[in-house]
Amino acid sequence: MIDPFGRTITYLRISVTDRCDFRCVYCMAEDMNFLPKGDLLSLEELERLATAFVRLGVRKLRLTGGEPLVRRGVMALVNRLGLQIGAKPGEPGLDELTLTTNGSQLARYAEDLAAAGVRRINVSIDTLDAAKFAAITRWGRLPQVLDGVMAAKAAGLKVKINAVALKDVNEHEFDGMLDWCGAHGFDLCLIETMPLGEIDGDRMDQYLPLSLVRQRLAAHWTLTPTDYVTGGPARYFDVAETGTRLGFITPLTHNFCEGCNRVRLTCTGTLYMCLGQEDAADLRRVLRGSDDDAVLADAIRAAIARKPKGHDFVIDRAHNRPALARHMSVTGG
Ligand code: SAM
Ligand code: SF4
Repeated sequence: MIDPFGRTITYLRISVTDRCDFRCVYCMAEDMNFLPKGDLLSLEELERLATAFVRLGVRKLRLTGGEPLVRRGVMALVNRLGLQIGAKPGEPGLDELTLTTNGSQLARYAEDLAAAGVRRINVSIDTLDAAKFAAITRWGRLPQVLDGVMAAKAAGLKVKINAVALKDVNEHEFDGMLDWCGAHGFDLCLIETMPLGEIDGDRMDQYLPLSLVRQRLAAHWTLTPTDYVTGGPARYFDVAETGTRLGFITPLTHNFCEGCNRVRLTCTGTLYMCLGQEDAADLRRVLRGSDDDAVLADAIRAAIARKPKGHDFVIDRAHNRPALARHMSVTGG
């Protein structure tokens, strides 16, 4: 699948649920309205759709959400998708199946994930201060997440910690987090907040440019740029003192769209060709309208042919409105 700008689409992110057991302040309002369960694709439908994408050339699949591990029966889907890893060269199949999780359920699932063929996971932890963690996630508890992370490590999963950089909240903790990640062999990736969805506070109050964070970190750590790529938009640096990597995802400070190789599927079967644009394709209608996988493949190809060049995230400062009304938990980040 090649889009109109010559980018080959090899990466599909699937939000398997919009629900979550946390209410992170930058992601959700405290009293979120979730989708009626009947709107969701079944796990079998998600598998059929994912498989259609793999047949069309997707090599990397990430399950996300909401919190992917709170979807009932999700391991059945992971196990089925895991069977598509490791195809012969030249044949359709997955190189990688992975997920992004808040870690709350990892203690329970880490071994099953490893057994299903998952090799790497991203765990979102914005702070190692338990009180602050509770404040940011509203409903999350840090010790439970850390137990989950350690279970993942013990199960042999490679862990990357994702942290959203929040002005005045965790901005002075990244030295400590880098230290902790280094001690456990985890890469750390910092993310700028993105203006997605109505939340309770003011988004501009949270925004912290990562250029500033990098400058501050460079005072204490030897950061060497690398061309390491994971198929994502992060720019990575080797950290000499820890032997791990530090990544930065900066959607607002410079355009991260040039090398975009991904599309995003929601739990209702809506395909977004760009995280920062409204245009979408309703694949649920196609899926439920026909058992013919050729029809589904045509609909996917037609959607890829509409993939836009890039996002135009801007915060509507005059009205303090997000650039997009859709929450990150819908498209899965
Ligand atoms: N619940 C899982 C988790 O937290 O890892 C997966 C879904 S969550 C939406 C995926 C990632 O998006 C998390 O790392 C989260 O911190 C990030 N995220 C959510 N809202 C964001 C926003 N407005 N700006 C930047 N990152 C955001
Ligand atoms: Fe849930 Fe992840 Fe959003 Fe936090 S960032 S509320 S854990 S979906």
